[in-house]
Amino acid sequence: WVAASFTKQQFPLVRLSSDSAAPRTPHFDVIVIGGGHAGTEAATAAARCGSRTLLLTHRVDTIGQMSCNPSFGGIGKGHLMREVDALDGLCSRICDQSGVHYKVLNRRKGPAVWGLRAQIDRKLYKQNMQKEILNTPLLTVQEGAVEDLILTEPEPEHTGKCRVSGVVLVDGSTVYAESVILTTGTFLRGMIVIGLEMHPAGRLGDQPSIGLAQTLEKLGFVVGRLKTGTPPRIAKDSINFSILNKQTPDNPSVPFSFTNETVWIKPEDQLPCYLTHTNPRVDEIVLKNLHLNSHVKETTRGPRYCPSIESKVLRFPNRLHQVWLEPEGMDSDLIYPQGLSMTLPTELQEKMITCIRGLEKAKVIQPGYGVQYDYLDPRQITPSLETHLVQRLFFAGQINGTTGYEEAAAQGVIAGINASLRVSRKPPFVVSRTEGYIGVLIDDLTTLGTSEPYRMFTSRVEFRLSLRPDNADIRLTLRGYKDAGCVSQRRYERACWMKSSLEEGISVLKSIEFSSSKWKNLIPEVSISTSRSLPVRALDVLKYEEVDMDSLAKAVPEPLKKYTKCRELAERLKIEATYESVLFHQLQEIKGVQQDEALQLPKDIDYLTIRDVSLSHEVREKLHFSRPQTIGAASRIPGVTPAAIINLLRFVKTTQ
Ligand code: FAD
Repeated sequence: WVAASFTKQQFPLVRLSSDSAAPRTPHFDVIVIGGGHAGTEAATAAARCGSRTLLLTHRVDTIGQMSCNPSFGGIGKGHLMREVDALDGLCSRICDQSGVHYKVLNRRKGPAVWGLRAQIDRKLYKQNMQKEILNTPLLTVQEGAVEDLILTEPEPEHTGKCRVSGVVLVDGSTVYAESVILTTGTFLRGMIVIGLEMHPAGRLGDQPSIGLAQTLEKLGFVVGRLKTGTPPRIAKDSINFSILNKQTPDNPSVPFSFTNETVWIKPEDQLPCYLTHTNPRVDEIVLKNLHLNSHVKETTRGPRYCPSIESKVLRFPNRLHQVWLEPEGMDSDLIYPQGLSMTLPTELQEKMITCIRGLEKAKVIQPGYGVQYDYLDPRQITPSLETHLVQRLFFAGQINGTTGYEEAAAQGVIAGINASLRVSRKPPFVVSRTEGYIGVLIDDLTTLGTSEPYRMFTSRVEFRLSLRPDNADIRLTLRGYKDAGCVSQRRYERACWMKSSLEEGISVLKSIEFSSSKWKNLIPEVSISTSRSLPVRALDVLKYEEVDMDSLAKAVPEPLKKYTKCRELAERLKIEATYESVLFHQLQEIKGVQQDEALQLPKDIDYLTIRDVSLSHEVREKLHFSRPQTIGAASRIPGVTPAAIINLLRFVKTTQ
């Protein structure tokens, strides 16, 4: 079931040199290195765009592995999943086939910031992902460790000091391609830490990637170091769930994918989660044993929003911290204690866990551990995720300093599309901050960089009332179909139908007007507060919490009944009505930002030497490093002053 494998004899070693004499086969359009969450999306996106793609990864049986928590989505992350799905990406559909506990977070707030989240069966997710990957047309999968890149002269019309043209595997064999995407996660010079023990590994049981890390450093990429960690896994039958708070899943489940009306495992068959808390005894064990815990002492930055129990005890002493006990799968004997990521020596992990209520007799089956790894400063890539230094080389996922499956998947789909567009010499596919959470994620990374593992939040997004999970298809599916070619005809037609139905529905709702007293007769349960003399639109009545499309259609069956036949359409009309007035103002702001984004900076501008524009030395260096593509992006780089932006603006206008 590995679709292709190549031997050293067929394809001799070529390293970092001009490759004019080297054999030209096997030759792909796109090579993706790494079968994690970024790599699977990148490889399938490139193939959907029509590129002959090779996915090279250490082991086929780890494709789609969830290295840490058995869950997808959440606040901000659920938005990313909807957007990946809107571009016909995989993770949302695969989650819907593998979810064992669905819950929408943030329900008390408006639908713009609801966080779709689900516990996922690890085994099912991997199986379903591998089935999908191995059956994707134009995609070949090969096991192997990539050690080096093959480089050639750059194309004259582009910046970059060289161009990638293939890869070298650990056995010395070579494979050529027009574009290469690196999605190596935590594997670049990965070191696993438990207590005072450290050993090289990408994650538990997997080799690290050393040669590739050295190649990237030799090429001049700025490399940093980050760390993260994972909790121990506990035997399910050793936990006393009967004394803990039980959380049941939502009924009905809200699927991640626009293509699904329901999820595979019915809500009544889904599994519960349980809540417990740490206590002062846990703090005591952490504090007493700090000298045995080298990961905590390391100055490398860890994930602020998913910290280890040691960091929480040090930062917030004397507090009780939540521990969610989450199922690892339908037939799994393991429980994942979310909130207890730790790197204490193995023998102390069980001691600490058994201090916690409900876990008094808990058995640790796999210890928690930390991992430290290289990442590349993401200011070295463009918004299409291609590197400034090496043409046709793309980075996506944790290699860019992010954390989380969803952040990785979102970058993967964009890198896959752009690597493919580059082969066919089409313009890059860039999502702006005004179009999607994916745009915010990539703009933040490429303009601000990151010094700690970056994770998505709704608070990072300026236009969150417009960029909602419900409308990701309208924002991205149509563009994905027309500009990238990564969306199927069926999905495109469905998004077009939804868009026109929403537009028609809103205009019909605006056109139905009655006096408030007439509405009072039609829908007695809502008291409409408005001046008696003014007519009230059905769209405004729909804004009331107690009113939905069903109650409205009961009051005015013609012409509203037809909009209740599709549940999704009815719910989306309600959301559109809720945000109608605020969205009007937000759209004006979005237009302003889009104007700045339209002002492109010349690609080949040398900020360090250019004389036609007055810029301080510090600003020149910042622009030189990040190479923003638009005035908008330049204005978001910290330290690039408003005065510098005005000077750049003048310069752009004179050169256009
Ligand atoms: P990965 O999923 O790591 O995939 C990388 C892939 O590249 C692997 O398949 C690997 O085999 C392959 N590969 C690497 N080098 C080579 C090479 N040279 N040749 C061929 N193949 C190669 N995220 C959170 O949100 N919260 C957490 O608490 C959290 N904790 C984590 C704890 C640990 C211990 C680890 C390892 C990860 C954790 N994560 C956490 C991160 C999450 O797992 C990643 O963000 C996500 O998996 C990144 O996806 P990716 O595709 O970039 O990399």
